[in-house]
Amino acid sequence: MISWEELRSECLQCKKCALWETRTNVVFGVGRQDAEVLFIGEGPGENEDLQGEPFVGRGGKLLDDMLRIIGLDRNENIYIANIVKCRPPQNRDPLNTEQEACMDWLRAQYRLIKPKVVVCLGRIAAKALIKDDFKITQEHGRWFDKDGVKFTAIYHPAALLRDPGKRPETFVDLKEIRRMIEETCVHTYMGKE
Ligand code: URA
Ligand code: SF4
Repeated sequence: MISWEELRSECLQCKKCALWETRTNVVFGVGRQDAEVLFIGEGPGENEDLQGEPFVGRGGKLLDDMLRIIGLDRNENIYIANIVKCRPPQNRDPLNTEQEACMDWLRAQYRLIKPKVVVCLGRIAAKALIKDDFKITQEHGRWFDKDGVKFTAIYHPAALLRDPGKRPETFVDLKEIRRMIEETCVHTYMGKE
C-alpha cells in the first residue's frame, strides 16, 4: 500500500479535474494520520486555498471552538479533509464530476487513517459519503453504519455563521458525537489538556 507521504506528494500535483487550473494550493488535509475521528468538509474556500489548510477562515475558527467543547483538536486527535481538495471558483458547490475525480484521494486517505467515526460537515459531504438523498435539516446528528464505521453529519460551520439559530441543535449533535467517540474509540485522547 502507498505510504502517506507518497500519497500526499502525488495529490499535491494532481490535475485530475479542471479545478487545478485556478487553485493556489491543493488542500490535502490536516491532523493525525492515525486519527480515530475524521471530519470531512466540502472544499477549500479562499483562505484555505491561500494557506493550503482546511477550515482556516471564520468558519474554521468556529469549527475549532466547537471541537474544543468535545475535547477534539486538529493538531492532537483528529483528521480534517474535504471532498474536493482544490477551491471551486467563486466558492460554488463542487460539481459531481469534480467530486468523483477527487474521491480517490479521500478514499486512499480513509484507507490509511482507518477512522472509527466520520463526521460530515454539511450537506455536500453528507450526500457524497452517507447517501445521495441526505437531508441535512432532518438527518443531521443521526448515525449511519458503514462496515462498522459510524458516520454522521452536522451543519457546516458556514451555515452556523449565517444562521446562529442552528447552533443549539449542533451542540446536541456534538455531545452525541462525543458520546459515540467514548463508546467506539479505543484511544480516548479526550480530556487531554
Ligand atoms: N469549507 C469547507 O467545506 N472546507 C474548508 O476547508 C473550508 C471551508
Ligand atoms: Fe485533483 Fe481533486 Fe484538485 Fe481536482 S480537486 S485537481 S481531482 S486534487
